[in-house]
Amino acid sequence: MKQLVILSGKGGTGKTSLAAAFAHLFSQSPFANRVVLADADVDAANLELVLQPRLREQEDFRGGQVAVIDESTCTSCGDCEAVCRFDAIHHTDSLYAVDPIACDGCAACVYQCPSESITMFEQVAGRFYVSDSRYGPLYHASLYPGRENSGKLVTLVKQRARLRALDEHRELVIVDGPPGIGCPVIAAASGADLALIVAEPTAAGVHDMKRILQTTEHFHIPALVCINKADIYPLGTKKIEAYCWDNEFQVAGKIPFDEAVTEAMVHGEPVTAYKPNAPVSRAIIDLWCSVMESLSIQNTCMGL
Ligand code: SF4
Ligand code: SF4
Repeated sequence: MKQLVILSGKGGTGKTSLAAAFAHLFSQSPFANRVVLADADVDAANLELVLQPRLREQEDFRGGQVAVIDESTCTSCGDCEAVCRFDAIHHTDSLYAVDPIACDGCAACVYQCPSESITMFEQVAGRFYVSDSRYGPLYHASLYPGRENSGKLVTLVKQRARLRALDEHRELVIVDGPPGIGCPVIAAASGADLALIVAEPTAAGVHDMKRILQTTEHFHIPALVCINKADIYPLGTKKIEAYCWDNEFQVAGKIPFDEAVTEAMVHGEPVTAYKPNAPVSRAIIDLWCSVMESLSIQNTCMGL
């Protein structure tokens, strides 16, 4: 079983469209329904929008703790408000209360309270889902606004997807990673056999690509680069290619801008299924074949 993670330095670069197209292309090979999908962008999961899966299971995700003040024993001394470094405790008319969004769960107030009026409670930070898509099971989640522990939720999504693939002897896990270079990205990328970095040919896009490549390099994860919307700013594309050449990263594909990608999303289909002969689909197929070659998964490109 191999793990492919699709990453980019920022959101909106086309990671999800690629993940959906790859799931579709894998289903066209002898490995039909042999993929497991994981949407690790728990702050803005949207692979389900393209794949329109059927929900099978869901459960609460408990992440972190929140302080709660017992008004019946609180003496309104204000010590907790003074010790809270997150400005999460406020009072009105001498009643002290914790803002659960601002509370970091550090428990400093619990130790400070002279009347033992503060208790830490586990909080529900999000929701975890297992769905069936037409190409294979999809593991996804949503972190509630203002909640912490996105890295922990990403790890949960990935671990469950990986276990499913191992249990059912599936060949591939495709992880649609979160944007950026923070903790959720590291959680999404850990253990991956290959990272596909989606770069855009803009000034910021080049900078974002360098940062994410430094991250994958730091964790010794082999990486390929693809340039999305490569034709909208040829100079930017050349800069990405030059950087990759100088630093020995392979540019595995250049995908042209095509409104068919948005149309396909609106229709709830991967672009390779919606318009298989569009230039963008042909470019994604070429990229897919390079990715499969890098992962040493054979016989996945015949007939595409
Ligand atoms: S647990 Fe920490 S962050 Fe939360 S209210 Fe208490 S002191 Fe503030
Ligand atoms: S430290 Fe305890 S007693 Fe004092 S205001 Fe806070 S909750 Fe109330």
